[in-house]
Amino acid sequence: MQTVQAYQFALDVTPAQVRALLAHAGAARVAFNWSLARVKSVLDQRSAERSYGVAEELLTPVVGWSLPALRRVWNVEKGVVAPWWREVSKEAFNTGLDALARGLKQWGDSRRGQRAGRPVGFPRFKSRHRSIPSVRFTTGAIRVEPDRKHVVLPRLGRLKLHESARKLARRVEAGTARIMSATVRRAGGRWHVAFTVTVERTDRRPERPAATVGVDVGIRHLAVLSTGEFVANPRHLDTAQTRLRALGRALSRKQGPDRRTGRVPSQRWRRASARLGRAHARVADLRRDGLHKLTTRLACTYGTVVVEDLHVAGMLRNRRLARHIADAGFAEFRRQLAYKTVWNGGRLVVADRWYPSSKTCSRCGAVKAKLPLRERTYTCTSCGLVLDRDVNAARNLADLAVQPTDPETGTGMGGVVSAGSGPVAGRGAIQKTHFGGQEAKNRQPDTAPADQTGTVPS
Ligand SMILES: [Zn+2]
Repeated sequence: MQTVQAYQFALDVTPAQVRALLAHAGAARVAFNWSLARVKSVLDQRSAERSYGVAEELLTPVVGWSLPALRRVWNVEKGVVAPWWREVSKEAFNTGLDALARGLKQWGDSRRGQRAGRPVGFPRFKSRHRSIPSVRFTTGAIRVEPDRKHVVLPRLGRLKLHESARKLARRVEAGTARIMSATVRRAGGRWHVAFTVTVERTDRRPERPAATVGVDVGIRHLAVLSTGEFVANPRHLDTAQTRLRALGRALSRKQGPDRRTGRVPSQRWRRASARLGRAHARVADLRRDGLHKLTTRLACTYGTVVVEDLHVAGMLRNRRLARHIADAGFAEFRRQLAYKTVWNGGRLVVADRWYPSSKTCSRCGAVKAKLPLRERTYTCTSCGLVLDRDVNAARNLADLAVQPTDPETGTGMGGVVSAGSGPVAGRGAIQKTHFGGQEAKNRQPDTAPADQTGTVPS
């Protein structure tokens, strides 16, 4: 099976290398900002000309928004805009122009209704203080040294790795992996290199291909399995909260930047800010590590994993729950399970958002109309089953995989399937949702089917 994967390693860079990296990231930003300003000025010029009544064909010509078009203009103008351009790799400018081309395309697609999700805003100028310094190399000498402790990148030369790159190096040496690009970026006060790699993976089977596990994710426990296993929620953010608050207070006592007066931050503010950033990065690292271990174990063990389709974005709007849900990493859990089950030859079944997994009895199938959250044990009035609420829900999810799935959405083995249009009960449960939410399509006037013209167009 061929996959595109990322291998990320922390770097130990020298001060001179940090300067070189920041110069490259800065060059990317200059190319981005200059090209964005040019795109904007042409747009403004055209709209001004239109307001004077200039004919459409006499307007200032549009500039191309594609990467090749942006690069062509940049290469003509770079001698004037950035006379120092020879000091950095051309890949730096390409990084910035590529980001702009993508941003403009996403804005355009979103405006035409060709892109799912929230509306995308027009690209904004990048600031040296706010943007994450990053540069991507797609050509030239990109390799891991035979000692597996250094990488070589164009212009930057040999960079020392903080950890061994043996997992990637072994694959490259065996010919099962090919490095496509390398991105260097600073996150959490540390520089990282991420290789985008096409990998030829060996086909694998889960340890128990016939076994099914239902997983109920929550806050009280990170996950409850239908086998009766409880996976504790480590609550890294809660643990770190005392320290984060102290660091935040310490930061607020220092002299920070002020845009209105143009005050620059003090050195102590910068150091305190870096300390707070590192503390947050550590929480994120701990969370990611725990999630990876759990999802790997599930995908390697069970042939079928069943989870709920949780509306994470909606739950994050709940102010009381948002911090805990974000800390548990529900959405990331789903994402990791989706690709890891494919890698391991298993399948992931996603239950319908309205499937009443908590309200259904896992033994007799009776459905309760109401089940308050404070009731931690499920007691069935029909058959007398008494079971932990979350284990009951997990068992219902596991049973879903056995039921035949919807022929329209079910894709069978080796993929992500959705299921669970079975029994529904309770208020708000009889709602049909389309996977991925409402679709926005730009419909031409008078093209609606005759029986669907009931609504007034906006
Ligand atoms: Zn029952």
